[in-house]
Amino acid sequence: MSNQKRIVVKIGSSLLAHSQQLTLRYAFMHGLLSDIARLKEQGYDVVLMSSGAVALGLNAVGKTPEDAGLLDKQAAAACGQLLLLNAYKQVAHEFGFDIAQILVTIGDMEERRRFINAKNTIERLFENGIMPIVNENDTLTTEELRVGDNDRLAAKVAQMIQADHLVLLTSVDGLYDRPPSEPDAQFIERLEDVSEYLSATEGTSVLGSGGMLTKLQAANMAQHAGCSTIIAEGIIERPLLSVLEGERRHTTCVAMGTPASAWKVWLTNRLQVAGSLILNQKAAEALCADPTPIAHTDIVSIHGNFHKGDILHVYDEQGREIARGLTNFSSEEVLVLARHPEASTAELLGYSAVPDVITTKNMVVLKENHLPWDVPTDDHQVVVTL
Ligand code: GLU
Repeated sequence: MSNQKRIVVKIGSSLLAHSQQLTLRYAFMHGLLSDIARLKEQGYDVVLMSSGAVALGLNAVGKTPEDAGLLDKQAAAACGQLLLLNAYKQVAHEFGFDIAQILVTIGDMEERRRFINAKNTIERLFENGIMPIVNENDTLTTEELRVGDNDRLAAKVAQMIQADHLVLLTSVDGLYDRPPSEPDAQFIERLEDVSEYLSATEGTSVLGSGGMLTKLQAANMAQHAGCSTIIAEGIIERPLLSVLEGERRHTTCVAMGTPASAWKVWLTNRLQVAGSLILNQKAAEALCADPTPIAHTDIVSIHGNFHKGDILHVYDEQGREIARGLTNFSSEEVLVLARHPEASTAELLGYSAVPDVITTKNMVVLKENHLPWDVPTDDHQVVVTL
């Protein structure tokens, strides 16, 4: 990797589209790319995560944000993405640099090989001085199979390129300790533990799909990847430089110490649950005290239809998430193994394999400050009833 400083900038839809006319806010784009040109001169590698495709494409399909259904939004994204990128290309040329488009789906982020492919492409674009502009491929994604918000997707990209900073530009000036509409709401300039402020994150923007909650989740993902997150208002004049040079207020979520290896960061920063395991309390406590491989005899129940190589979320019996790791077996195999603790893997599965369901090198025990996910409630296959 190069020694250049790296930054991912995420722009919310409401900054790129006028809320009534749903047309491009050209002045904002101009100010943004002017700042990015300066950052590039200062030696930064920049990735732009840009929303706005759906909002800018709604006029073409004759819909409004309120009455557009999924198909309308998919069609709008196809129209709006073109409009957006054309505008970016023209304005970037005014500032003397080129851009490239990368559209991703959740699978591209969650599947290791595709994740690395995307990373390699971005590295090559950087070598050529071209700024990648990333968005979710909304045209091809359905409600169940989409990330939905570009905040967490931007955090994944920050993790991918080992960025120093993630800047989330939005329509508010940062985080408050309670909804800013409430009297006495205090502005938070710096935070370490995002879980302290989750209750203050109600509401999403009308045009986009994120809100303060997805921003804090993104900040948590980024901080564990060694990247600090800045949440700031996307003003028209010097929207980035004024924040990076400390001229106006914003919220900074600090990076946590030295990040774990890229592999372990990838194991923990998830966008969806492929499956999960609940361990008996004794095994769960032992795992937290001293990470040991997860054996099939530790498992009380299994959730989801997962495949060998998927990342599982691991819970204790109280529903507390304690670890994430890559499974050596499919859900069917884990079920067979867990239901027959006395038999060997070879006898049960017909091939010999490492007996651990998750080995320590492919597992991360979640530390304090890591936002846990709730244990999925549906579709559990109980192995043993206590
Ligand atoms: N990908 C969506 C778009 O380009 C926006 C998602 C979001 O609001 O974060 O319109």
